[in-house]
Amino acid sequence: MSAETVGHWIDGAEVPGDSGRAGDVFDPATGTLARHVALAGAAEIERAVASAAAAFPGWRDTALSRRTRVLFAFRELLDKAKDELAEIITGEHGKVVSDAHGEVARGLEVVEFACGIGHLLKGGHTENASTGVDVHSIRQPLGPVAVISPFNFPAMVPLWFIPIAIAAGNTVVLKPSEKDPSAALFMAGLWKQAGLPDGVFTVLQGDKEAVDGLLDHPDIKAVSFVGSTPVAQYVHQRASAAGKRVQALGGAKNHMVVLPDADLQLTADAAINAGFGSAGERCMAISVVVAVGEIADPLVAAIADRARALRTGDGRRGCDMGPLVTAAHRDRVAGYVAEGEEAGAKLVVDGRDVRPDADGSGFFLGPTLLDHVTPGMSVYTDEIFGPVLSVVRVDTYAEALALVNANRYGNGTAIFTSDGGAARRFENEVEVGMIGVNVPIPVPVAYYSFGGWKDSLFGDTHAHGTEGVHFFTRGKVVTSRWPDEGHRGLNLGFPRND
Ligand code: NAD
Repeated sequence: MSAETVGHWIDGAEVPGDSGRAGDVFDPATGTLARHVALAGAAEIERAVASAAAAFPGWRDTALSRRTRVLFAFRELLDKAKDELAEIITGEHGKVVSDAHGEVARGLEVVEFACGIGHLLKGGHTENASTGVDVHSIRQPLGPVAVISPFNFPAMVPLWFIPIAIAAGNTVVLKPSEKDPSAALFMAGLWKQAGLPDGVFTVLQGDKEAVDGLLDHPDIKAVSFVGSTPVAQYVHQRASAAGKRVQALGGAKNHMVVLPDADLQLTADAAINAGFGSAGERCMAISVVVAVGEIADPLVAAIADRARALRTGDGRRGCDMGPLVTAAHRDRVAGYVAEGEEAGAKLVVDGRDVRPDADGSGFFLGPTLLDHVTPGMSVYTDEIFGPVLSVVRVDTYAEALALVNANRYGNGTAIFTSDGGAARRFENEVEVGMIGVNVPIPVPVAYYSFGGWKDSLFGDTHAHGTEGVHFFTRGKVVTSRWPDEGHRGLNLGFPRND
């Protein structure tokens, strides 16, 4: 990692930016400017895509066994480097080191899944579909593809896509978040060490200009985007208009429905872990607890006790919760707390007066708990993406379900109950893509696919698992007949299979 300005990774090496534009990268725990990041202009975008396009024909035709060996080697290198990568993540994102380790571990799972690409790309074969005619299917890579990722998982989210795209024979241009760009560059070095040919993986640092350049570029065949809903919607429209395949994962507002028969202590622990882990900067964070009936009072008290006991501070000091990613974001989240209180919510725990265990002036906001939140309040309607947990009280399961289903987002949700029948009913009735039953952050394992419903995902295909393989390949079906006397003769009718 270069000390001054984080550059791009093109043709197998870090290259400095030459657009004359750069962004600031902070250490969020101390509030200090840590380094800069290059922001790509037109010439760098062109160079990055040209490199990916040039590498494609060779990589596409590289034997599956050789591609798989690179994947296995990358898996080993990533595993060995996980401490270093976790530190890089914490230094730029702010999440505590153990949480950064968790993100690397979940990314590794996708690499391991992609190691089985030989099996995943197998087609079907039918002998004698018609007399003497065989049919088989194959899946082929698309070409150079773009991955555009958010700040909150600088390693895991790129790894949702890149190992599968590469294993399937595509070349990839990653545009990481400009807020924490170093993890991408670090992983690029590991790909190189793993034996990946130059140009198969490229990192293009930048902001909207780089994103737009990739969305419009005719040589980019598909786009995997993860970020906020307005940008996801924009990316989906612009990339689709340019004729590309696109999956654009957006924002979230995840509800945790708590029925009166839930295990109180387990539920309170889960609400804390899922509400305040990574300072609430997770797309699968729980931001709303929907307390059904008489469990509300004891649940709020149990969550409040735990929230007050959390240690907020520098993620390198063994604290429970780190800072927010930038000062502007911290201030925006704090603004929502004020708005909630003004709108009539009861502020049970106020994180604005937190005294963090950190040096300098980091971007801290402590765990915050608002009770008696109602659906009209901005603290409920908007994705806050910070350590603010809202409690909405309802009387019945039906009211809880209606609340979740009326929400514009449908990324994740959870139900806490001891009643298997109620959980099964929720699973069936709720309009959300990923559901937890007594599990607060139901991020699917790598061999299933990750994706939300409604305004949490634009496009048809979810990330990783078999849907990921499908996204990064396209199908062909071959119908073949080898010369045979019996096939001679003219017949202008539509081919029948008999
Ligand atoms: P963001 O939308 O601000 O940025 C995401 C990416 O888009 C970045 O690479 C950024 O440089 C780029 N970008 C930003 N504004 C743009 C614009 N106007 N035009 C083109 N590109 C632009 O998101 P963020 O703040 O980095 O990440 C947090 C958001 O991501 C939250 O909304 C969170 O819910 C969401 N997220 C969703 C998932 C999911 O799986 N659904 C996962 C992680 C994060």
